[in-house]
Amino acid sequence: MYELEKLLVMLLTEGSVSEAARSWKISFKNKSKVFVKLFVNYFKKLYGRPPRIIRTKDGTYLAYIYSTEIAKKLLSIVGSFRTKACTEKPVCTLYLKQREKHLKECVIFDEKPYHKIALPKTLFNSPLKERREIVKILVSAEGHIVFSKINGRRPNEIVRKILITCFHPLLREQFKKLIESCGIKCSFEGRNRIRISGKDNLIKFRKEIGFLPEIKVSKGKVWKGISKQRLLSLLINSSFFADKFLFEYAGYSRKRMSTVPEVCPAAVCETRFQPG
Ligand SMILES: [Zn+2]
Repeated sequence: MYELEKLLVMLLTEGSVSEAARSWKISFKNKSKVFVKLFVNYFKKLYGRPPRIIRTKDGTYLAYIYSTEIAKKLLSIVGSFRTKACTEKPVCTLYLKQREKHLKECVIFDEKPYHKIALPKTLFNSPLKERREIVKILVSAEGHIVFSKINGRRPNEIVRKILITCFHPLLREQFKKLIESCGIKCSFEGRNRIRISGKDNLIKFRKEIGFLPEIKVSKGKVWKGISKQRLLSLLINSSFFADKFLFEYAGYSRKRMSTVPEVCPAAVCETRFQPG
């Protein structure tokens, strides 16, 4: 159910709909083959044709299909699939060719023009069960789990949160609204992120939404390879305090913990995870 809404969220996160030489190209990429297959299945169910899957050099799976007709249909629903500002590379061709006219069709945010994008009403009006599935897709595509130390007044405390990256100002608002419609609290962080934090809120998120089980941490020295859903459990169950967390879960000796600031800067805390 609601395959179109799910497909649209996939395309607006890890996907793209773009004009190629002869025909429009619709694609979706992810490190998880299961996630990419999910995209293929939704697409096939909606349009009767399965996109082709290839594996790129860096191990990412890419599903793609050429169809101007389907691309135009999808565009007519959301308006645009360009989530970057027109001025960012590759610079928008409409912006290059007819700047004045094009700017009138855009929304300006932080002095940069963006295309108007609107998720369909059917998505917001779908049953809670479906909206949870859609948020699961969103977070699986763009969500990062953050463990970081607070520098300053409480240096031993760990920050625990999920950050969802979205560069498009209108889409970011809509994604926030969608997450909140599932009863999960969230707020904006910095310019490009939506934050889900707070212990009870994270527990509710894990139980009712969570990540697709196949989604794994793809970068970092420690957590690389662990499923995000499992990491979320570790995060929820971990101590509030950095030393205990690092000692219990990240395999640090008490002695080495004095060097933690170098290993674990304010960014994502991805210290070595030792299974078992
Ligand atoms: Zn543009």
